[in-house]
Amino acid sequence: SALQNQIAAGEVVERPASVLKELIENALDAGADEINVELEDGGLSLLRISDNGHGIRQDELELAVTRYATSKVQSFSELLQVNSYGFRGEALPSIASVARLRLSSIFKSFESLEQNNHVEAAFIEIEHGRLINQGITALNQGTIIEVRDLFANVPARLKFLKTPATELKRCQELFFRLALTRLDVAFSLTSGAKNLITCHKNESLTERLGHFWSGDLIEQLAEFKQDNNIFSISGLLANPEQAQSKKERVLFYVNKRPISDRILSAALREAYKGRLISREHPQAVIFLELPAEDLDVNVHPAKSEVRFRDERAIFSFVLSSLKNTLNEKFA
Ligand code: ADP
Ligand code: MG
Repeated sequence: SALQNQIAAGEVVERPASVLKELIENALDAGADEINVELEDGGLSLLRISDNGHGIRQDELELAVTRYATSKVQSFSELLQVNSYGFRGEALPSIASVARLRLSSIFKSFESLEQNNHVEAAFIEIEHGRLINQGITALNQGTIIEVRDLFANVPARLKFLKTPATELKRCQELFFRLALTRLDVAFSLTSGAKNLITCHKNESLTERLGHFWSGDLIEQLAEFKQDNNIFSISGLLANPEQAQSKKERVLFYVNKRPISDRILSAALREAYKGRLISREHPQAVIFLELPAEDLDVNVHPAKSEVRFRDERAIFSFVLSSLKNTLNEKFA
């Protein structure tokens, strides 16, 4: 129901940046390798994402904005092995219940491509959970989602949003975190008429980081990779003896999801302990990969937290890997 969707929206959608996260993840799930984001007023009045992914079949557009309709998980056992970002089928209906959402997409099936058939793109428009318009539209590839006037119908939520400038910052931060996970994907971000960031396809991690962090900061970083037979860790670590960042700049990813986690933070702090110049902070980008069954990503709907099955094993693996790296690279 509309009410259920609004309640769910409270969990999934908090602000423009959380909408952006869901929509970028959907584009990645659709196999896109080009994702363009346009914002107006920090995403408050408009958030527009276009991708070149596989698109949505015309007869499934309505389903995509219906509660618990996910095309990604067919069974409970699959839920335990999710490789896609999404699996709840909750995001689009939630967003559509608290905004005006227009979804345009073109789905080119293998047959239609083979037979060179003409395929039409279709759109659907939902306002505050109600279907207001649908039909045929012009679109060459992929999907475009436009979200207008977020929370216009939920004054209590609107009240908690910050200024457009602050919401824009959060969107940029989120964009940055996701752009680092997929170096094979091109991303762009514009705000109003201003192009803020353009990341090309197949950049290196340091190249991509260079769109967001200053060259001075990046120069202090050393690339590393370590693994045992189960876990693997890679990324960039700052030289503890050089001038560090005044601000803590630490990004953790677990199985490509940006997360914050106290066990990983503790391991990092411990690894740098006694090596940092006083009042400086560690700086790192850390990607941890582990078997899906060692992880529960289903803890929080926004999925920025994970739970490790064996916290001790993770802590000691991460700590020893980081210590080894610091010893090796910055002896
Ligand atoms: P979930 O990602 O959990 O499956 P969502 O509500 O985020 O649920 O999306 C609902 C469905 O809409 C997805 O399962 C997918 O089939 C479709 N979808 C959403 N965004 C896109 C996109 N950019 N490209 C292709 N399909 C999409
Ligand atoms: Mg999703």
